Amino acid sequence: VTRETEQTAARPLPTAAVTLTHPDRIYWPDEGVTKEGLADYYAQVWRFMAPYVVNRPLALLRLPDGINGRQRFFQKHAWKGMNPHIDQIIDPKDKQGEKLLRITDFDGVVALVQSAVLEIHPWGTTTDNWEKPDMITMDLDPGEEVAWEDVIAAAYELKARLEAEGLAPFVKTSGGKGLHVVTPLTPKAGWVQVKAFAKWLGDSMSADNPDRYLATATKAKRKGRIFIDYLRNGRGNTAVAAYSTRARPGAAVSMPLEWSELTADIGPAYFTVDNTPTRLDALPGDPWDGFFAAAKPLEKKR
Ligand code: ATP
Ligand code: MN
Ligand code: MN
Repeated sequence: VTRETEQTAARPLPTAAVTLTHPDRIYWPDEGVTKEGLADYYAQVWRFMAPYVVNRPLALLRLPDGINGRQRFFQKHAWKGMNPHIDQIIDPKDKQGEKLLRITDFDGVVALVQSAVLEIHPWGTTTDNWEKPDMITMDLDPGEEVAWEDVIAAAYELKARLEAEGLAPFVKTSGGKGLHVVTPLTPKAGWVQVKAFAKWLGDSMSADNPDRYLATATKAKRKGRIFIDYLRNGRGNTAVAAYSTRARPGAAVSMPLEWSELTADIGPAYFTVDNTPTRLDALPGDPWDGFFAAAKPLEKKR
C-alpha cells in the first residue's frame, strides 16, 4: 500500500460534484502543480481549512493561465460563466451594489480551483454576522534588510500584547514574505472598534520601538523595519486565508503553525502545495486546534 491509500483508508478525503475541465492545465509551471493537483491539495487540507473560508465574503485572485500568465484578476464579484457552486450574496450594507462571493462547502473550493482562483482572501467575519468580526489579522510586512528572526520576534511581541488584553493569538506564515498573527474574537465588537483596536496595537508597538516597527503604510519608510499592517481589519478588507495557496513562484501556502513551530528554520514560504500533506500527516492534529473555542470578546476600553 502506498502512503496515500493508507491515509485515505484512515480518513476519507472529501469529494466534489464539480467537474474539472482540463485537469492537466498547469498553474505553477516550475513546481508542475496542475489544476487537478491543486484540487487534491485542497481535499487534503479541507478538514482544517473549511472554517476559515466557508460562509465568508471572499476576494479571489484568479489567474486563468497560471502564475506566469498575463491575466490576473482580483475579483470581489461574479465573472462570466462562474460556477454555480460559488454563491452570490447581497451585502446587507450595500443592497443595491454588485453581489459579493461566498462558498459554503468543498464543492465551492473545487469550483474556485476550476476557475483558476490561486489565492482566497476572506473577510474576517462570517455572513451570519456581517457587522461583527470573528477574528483580527495583524499582518507583519518586513521591509528590505529585515532579518527573519526579527519578524519572528515581532510576532512574539504581538502575541504578548494580545495576551495582555486577555486574547488568544495564533500565527501563520503568509506564504509570501511575512507572518500573520490571527486572533479569534467572539463576534461582539463592530468593525470600527476592531479596526481601532488593531491600529492601537500597531501604533503602540511602533511608538515603543520606532527603529524596528512602523504602523503607517508608507513604503518608502520600511527599509530595515517591519510594517505592522493593521489595515486587514476594516469592513470589506481581506487577508489571505489559512491554507490558501499563493499565486507566486514556489506554490507556497499560508500555513497555520503552533507557536512552538515558529523557529528560524521555517521561513514565510516554507510550506507549499507539495510538502503540506506530509506535514499534516505528521502532526497529531490541527495546528490551530481550538481556534474558535479560544475566542474572547474585545473589551470596550480602547
Ligand atoms: P506578504 O507576506 O508577502 O506580505 P500578504 O498576503 O500579507 O503576503 P500583503 O501585501 O501584506 O500580502 O497584503 C495585501 C493584502 O491586500 C492581501 O492580504 C489581500 O487581502 C489584499 N489584496 C491583495 N491583492 C489585492 C488587490 N489587487 N487589490 C486589493 N487588495 C488586495
Ligand atoms: Mn503581509
Ligand atoms: Mn500587508
